[in-house]
Amino acid sequence: MINDDILRLRPTWITIDLQAIQLNAQKIMQHAGAKKIIAVVKADAYGHGAKQVVQALLDIGIQDFAVATIAEGIALREVYPQKNVNIFLLGVQDVSHTNVMIQYRLVPPVGTIEWLQSALAQIEDGQKLAVQLAVDTGMGRMGAHSQENVQAIYDAIQNTDKLDFFGVFTHFATADDNNQSYYDKQVKRFYQWVTAAGIPKKYWNLANSGSAIWHFNEIDTETIRVGSVLYGYNPGAPEKKLPISLKPALYLKSKIGSVHQLQIGESVSYGATYTAAKSQWIATLPIGYADGYLRRMSGMNVLVDGHVEHVIGRVTMDQIVITLNQEYPVGTIVTLVGCDGQEKITIEDMAEYGHTIPHEILTNFGNRLPKIY
Ligand SMILES: *Cc1c(COP(=O)(O)O)cnc(C)c1O
Repeated sequence: MINDDILRLRPTWITIDLQAIQLNAQKIMQHAGAKKIIAVVKADAYGHGAKQVVQALLDIGIQDFAVATIAEGIALREVYPQKNVNIFLLGVQDVSHTNVMIQYRLVPPVGTIEWLQSALAQIEDGQKLAVQLAVDTGMGRMGAHSQENVQAIYDAIQNTDKLDFFGVFTHFATADDNNQSYYDKQVKRFYQWVTAAGIPKKYWNLANSGSAIWHFNEIDTETIRVGSVLYGYNPGAPEKKLPISLKPALYLKSKIGSVHQLQIGESVSYGATYTAAKSQWIATLPIGYADGYLRRMSGMNVLVDGHVEHVIGRVTMDQIVITLNQEYPVGTIVTLVGCDGQEKITIEDMAEYGHTIPHEILTNFGNRLPKIY
């Protein structure tokens, strides 16, 4: 990966507000009445930069982090070797990497007794693997899926000195929508299975962002495990209003690279899908779908000098073309995500326009975009 200084030689950049992330973390804990937060920083902290986000959260006393893969875990552990920093893995891991997970003190989920036995067979005397028990209450991806399995795995963990028990968790499928009965079913299962297995409450963690925002009253957990709210995004559908105000942490800007006047009948970009109905000023920006400005953003708003303009024609790999209401000089700043005067464009706006969710917009940014903190 090319470093940020070199990436900055092209005038398109992301700005990250780390203070907003700290504020959001404090707000959601207060709102949900949680004592502890596991900050989800997978996919490079949803495109915000895991290394910097983790430091900002360490600064306000958060010590538990979650990523998806072993590689993400190792990258984080190399920067934060401290004993008190916990790094959880959320996805199913290949059990043959048990010793790598021990070496980097990563905490994988255990969802089957077979996985556990296979891991145990690899752990040498004097070594310990920290684990979390994953319970599948309705997400259908991974985890123990019956009272018997939860019990069997928990008992096996208790019966060896090669494992450290770090918690038990489940993941909600519908926390961010109105399907209350499915959510309730998941909660009920978790309580039944985990209580029957005799797992003390202090080990439970079951609230993702949607759950911590809209269902905190219905679950009894000291620990929340959240991603999107930290970064200031509504994890739900646009009509699902937030009961607390969150501050978005990511802004995206670019500078006009060239300006010219399109004559009547002239077209723009691949496929010549946009044709000028009248003579008009247009500009080219150095950003494209290879930067995560998705191809389906053709027609999306951008802000120039405090007013709304539009992406015209197809989004190409490295460049987009926008309308202008008048001639502007090369180098004029254009806001793709953020505020300009009275106008603003949010990640949620982009997600809605692109028929997707904020997470997908965010995690696509990155490869070539430098970040300024
Ligand atoms: C991604 C993930 C989260 C965080 O989800 P948000 O909705 O962003 O809060 C929590 N738990 C698990 C298991 C996940 O995979």
